[in-house]
Amino acid sequence: MSVLNSTAARDIAHQLHPYTNAIRHEAIGPVVIERGEGVYVYDDQGRRYLEGLAGLWSVAVGFGEKRLVEAAKRQLEKLPYYHIFSHKSHMPSIALAEKLAEMTPGDLSHVFFTNSGSEANDTVVKLLWYYNNACGRPKKKKFLAREQAYHGITVASGSLTGLPNNHRDFDLPAIPVRHLTCPHYYRFGQEGETEAQFVDRLIGELEAVIAEEGAETIAAFIGEPLMSAGGVIPPPNQYWERVQAVCRCNDILIVADEVITGFGRLGTMFGSEHYNIQPDVLVLSKQINSSYQPLAAVVISDAIYKAVADNTGKIGTFGHGYTGSGHPVATAVALENIAIIEERHLVENAARMGRVLQSRLAALADHPLVGEVRGAGLIAGVELVADKSTKAKFDEPGRVGAYVFHRAHDHGLVVRAITDTIAFCPPLIITEDQIEELVSAFERTLEDTVRWIA
Ligand code: PLP
Repeated sequence: MSVLNSTAARDIAHQLHPYTNAIRHEAIGPVVIERGEGVYVYDDQGRRYLEGLAGLWSVAVGFGEKRLVEAAKRQLEKLPYYHIFSHKSHMPSIALAEKLAEMTPGDLSHVFFTNSGSEANDTVVKLLWYYNNACGRPKKKKFLAREQAYHGITVASGSLTGLPNNHRDFDLPAIPVRHLTCPHYYRFGQEGETEAQFVDRLIGELEAVIAEEGAETIAAFIGEPLMSAGGVIPPPNQYWERVQAVCRCNDILIVADEVITGFGRLGTMFGSEHYNIQPDVLVLSKQINSSYQPLAAVVISDAIYKAVADNTGKIGTFGHGYTGSGHPVATAVALENIAIIEERHLVENAARMGRVLQSRLAALADHPLVGEVRGAGLIAGVELVADKSTKAKFDEPGRVGAYVFHRAHDHGLVVRAITDTIAFCPPLIITEDQIEELVSAFERTLEDTVRWIA
């Protein structure tokens, strides 16, 4: 890639990019994406890429969806901004909260809006601290999370995240959290252990940690129904059922972080339905409005709402909120986006196309570089290994993944490399022909990778 055309130079001169090695960026510069249409994006050189990750796991209805543009435009013209602090409100936030309360499972009844998934999980931490203080349980403040979980990057949500790169040199974790073993049987199952025995061991660990810390000090267990940014890791059978049973016995709340799995990704409207999770708190973002605007939502149970509301009555306010909470343009776009998901049956499409994607990728299981193919619905991960028979990782973790990431671009495909696991999470509107295009571009990339390694 030639670097120093003027756009690249300007980018390098003044942006510190998220999740980027700045020194490498100075050498290779950015791929500048200019526009998008359907499942494709186009760079400023006119090259087309199939967006195999839907941006950042989020553009459910595809790029360039005119109905979302029109919804944003209408709202910008009518009321471009207003807040919902101190007894103010506006129709888009009212209608979206109502819609979410109706759609989400169980007795989830009230919504707190934020601008990002990270802020939503920060809100969860503060909200449950506030809740337990309100309930007269000031010691009940710790969180249980998992290694390799991704819950965001702010001080509290970054603490819940279980990935070393989000902690290293940031002085995290900074809140009381215990990270349990990642429920990934392929990587963490022991020699001779069945999947069921692996789950027994994880549940034993959960019980032991609760006993060690004291249930009276633990507020909640937070988990993504299917772990995504940490490597696309579906839970083993019975994992969620058993985690919930232990948590319920110990009066520990369940927080389902559905920032990626919400709104159809797994072929059900919510990942919680897919894995029989009954959350007390549900966290949503990304596909809520296909990321056309920044927005996230924390949906809470009626019981939590009542205790929190009572406390605001006692102390005078709920002293938490963002200038952008419930932003009218972001929530108006979300309402239109959810209408499109429902009208075009995109959840059903995700289930159908998910089967095509999973079976097409499963056919790569015999490839010499492929250790494991995994996923559910329209999200999948292909873990590349140095040695299939021993599952040995590459000597320099992430180097092969980085090659695949860049080489896939040359084949017109955008993927995510999570160390050496290649992640796929295309828009929910993808067709069978486009899945074929995605997988064959990936196959060509894999062949190049074999030659590059040799
Ligand atoms: N939670 C999950 C499960 C996520 O995947 C992400 C982002 O990928 C977040 C939280 C953080 O969201 P944001 O990047 O909007 O802060």
